[in-house]
Amino acid sequence: MLHAELEILLEIQDLQTLRRDISVAEYAAAGIPVNVEEFSARLGERIVEREEQLSPRTQSTYRRILKRHERVVAPVLNGVCYGCFVHVPTSKGRDQERNSELRNCESCGRFIYYTD
Ligand SMILES: [Zn+2]
Repeated sequence: MLHAELEILLEIQDLQTLRRDISVAEYAAAGIPVNVEEFSARLGERIVEREEQLSPRTQSTYRRILKRHERVVAPVLNGVCYGCFVHVPTSKGRDQERNSELRNCESCGRFIYYTD
């Protein structure tokens, strides 16, 4: 089970990625009828709404990471954080429970989730 705040953080990250993507030329070239400014503003509002659903503690960690990194959440694959490519201690607990806690990489500080 995914930690509730991890789920929100992943959604925020996806919205942020999408907001960056829609301003690149490929989007316009694909002929997608999008008013970039309007769409970007709408995504921005949704991001703020989701940020407000995080606990104060998680919000402050999130803002601290965001100042230094574009990507706030990083996957862990084969014991490596894909935010900073440093080995992270393997999580204890059963596979399906590993992402039920909110964790941060000890090296880069990003929120992490286990994919393997
Ligand atoms: Zn890291």
